[in-house]
Amino acid sequence: MINYTDILREHNLKATPQRLAIANTLYTNGHITIDSLYEVMVEKFNAISLATIYKNINLMLENSFIKEVKLPNAKSVYELTQAPHSHLVCTKCSAIEDITIDLNSIIDTVTKTSSFKVDSTNLVLSGICKKCSNN
Ligand SMILES: [Zn+2]
Ligand SMILES: [Zn+2]
Repeated sequence: MINYTDILREHNLKATPQRLAIANTLYTNGHITIDSLYEVMVEKFNAISLATIYKNINLMLENSFIKEVKLPNAKSVYELTQAPHSHLVCTKCSAIEDITIDLNSIIDTVTKTSSFKVDSTNLVLSGICKKCSNN
């Protein structure tokens, strides 16, 4: 368990027991859907509602403590804010891996071949993870 009290405070968030548990769950899981997060949280705080989870997640998003990863044809997952990275998603087991890819050459190509100005990127690549390709 990492103590996220100070990190939450740096993001102007009060370190409530629920928020500390959300932070540690994200740390342990890497990426998690709201539904899975709710399942974990209900085991720790049996009276917690889904609405409370959403409220905390939205506040954590606003304060950049966490990030939403939008996935094609699947529910968004959430992760602790880290250095910018892209995602690899397994189409068999839905596992999500982080990968650092230099997107500058892609942005260069877009700039050169269209008049579109890129201001944000969200690259998700689908395929088969190592575990699934070994089975
Ligand atoms: Zn897989
Ligand atoms: Zn990630």
